[in-house]
Amino acid sequence: MGQAPDIGVGSYQHEAKLALNMARKHTGMTRKVDDLGRIVLPAEIRRAFDIHVGDLLDISVQGNQIVLGKVEDRCIFCGTDVDLIQHHDKLVCLVCRKSLAEGV
Ligand SMILES: [Zn+2]
Repeated sequence: MGQAPDIGVGSYQHEAKLALNMARKHTGMTRKVDDLGRIVLPAEIRRAFDIHVGDLLDISVQGNQIVLGKVEDRCIFCGTDVDLIQHHDKLVCLVCRKSLAEGV
């Protein structure tokens, strides 16, 4: 039997912090996968990452790890949720995009 993949929770908001501290943080929490492939995120994790019912989570794979990231439907610069455009894997609003293009 191989090593079971680790499941981590992150959010784009926490990415900078995580980048500074790449050490894996084991929470000691484990959850069983049910017959439909579902797991329950522990309440402590949901609270810490401000994850609520209906929130979208992005699922990515890094090596043998499954990484969950909170999808933030907001501009990464000003925080608005209006006129968002995806630029690479980040959301940027039209106003900020324009201001970036003009170098203001
Ligand atoms: Zn913006």
